[in-house]
Amino acid sequence: MGGRLTAALCAPLLQWYRENARVLPWRENRDPYRVWVSEIMLQQTRVEAVIPYFTRFMQACPDVQALAQAGEQTYLKLWEGLGYYSRVRNLHKAAVRVCEDYAGVFPQTYEALLTLPGVGDYTAGAVASIAFGQPVPAVDGNVLRVVSRLTADTRFVSEPAVKKDMRAQVQAILPDDPGAFNQALMELGALVCVPNGAPRCDGCPVRHLCEGAARGLAASLPNKAPKRARTVAERTVFLLRCGGRVALRRRASSGLLAGLWELPGTEGRLSPAEARAYLAAQGCPPDRLLSLRPAKHVFTHIEWQMAGYYAEVAACPAEAGLTLVTPSALRAEYALPSAFRPFLKVLEGEL
Ligand code: SF4
Repeated sequence: MGGRLTAALCAPLLQWYRENARVLPWRENRDPYRVWVSEIMLQQTRVEAVIPYFTRFMQACPDVQALAQAGEQTYLKLWEGLGYYSRVRNLHKAAVRVCEDYAGVFPQTYEALLTLPGVGDYTAGAVASIAFGQPVPAVDGNVLRVVSRLTADTRFVSEPAVKKDMRAQVQAILPDDPGAFNQALMELGALVCVPNGAPRCDGCPVRHLCEGAARGLAASLPNKAPKRARTVAERTVFLLRCGGRVALRRRASSGLLAGLWELPGTEGRLSPAEARAYLAAQGCPPDRLLSLRPAKHVFTHIEWQMAGYYAEVAACPAEAGLTLVTPSALRAEYALPSAFRPFLKVLEGEL
């Protein structure tokens, strides 16, 4: 356990933020819709990766009404490649709620925002403070790291009680412009008090107030509980061609990548002979079968190690539960999770 945050941080941090804040498309104004969409996109995704997605999303769905009216394929396609698809499903559900329950006007309080699907503590705090100037903190992983270093706090930041305490510490020192202060803390975490043991203390505007730096602990903080080991699952994935079309399958409506399209496949790594037999048993015996380069994809708690086959089949019976689409439709209309992308390389030139 370390010290406590001091309100003396506010002035130098805000001054630094005014001079150094990055120009980002969602900072053009304080429109709650833009703030909300950007905050959801930024969860688990880097700023540079989010910018083109955000721009495209705003062109297709410029306001909460447009998002509420968007069809599932439209918003999934806009999210394609960002991962964690439940984020965009919840965005859509929340947009519908804002339109139905709040006549299309964003609720302004932290408590009301918290009731929207997919909006947790952090997002409610970010939208309430940035868009509406409400005096509430917005504490994400970046801020937890900065606070633990500033106060030389050695407790596990992943513990709910520690998060709650750090949130209370930020709350206690919030200045007049809480939105700017919350963003300043996050920006400090993104640009100066960076992760992976490499804080840039020499260029830090609050170094004179930092207990972690003074005690030589900064690089070793924050302390995190050891991560649960990832499960490894072996799979076989088929890029199935039937005439000029490619076979897709819808995933189950719950669990990993729920309800998304996928390339058909099965559990386990099948040999070429087993792959032929598997396809024959599905009613699609291949005329031609080629091994593709194996691929892996890492999710939060599981890693897929995948064997891949390109198979040309004469027909796909309805019982196989497959949807045949042209490569151009696949590119334009169907959201395919990144895990399957490596197997599409064989279609290059068409996709
Ligand atoms: Fe982070 Fe170093 Fe600044 Fe402390 S002095 S807040 S550890 S960058």
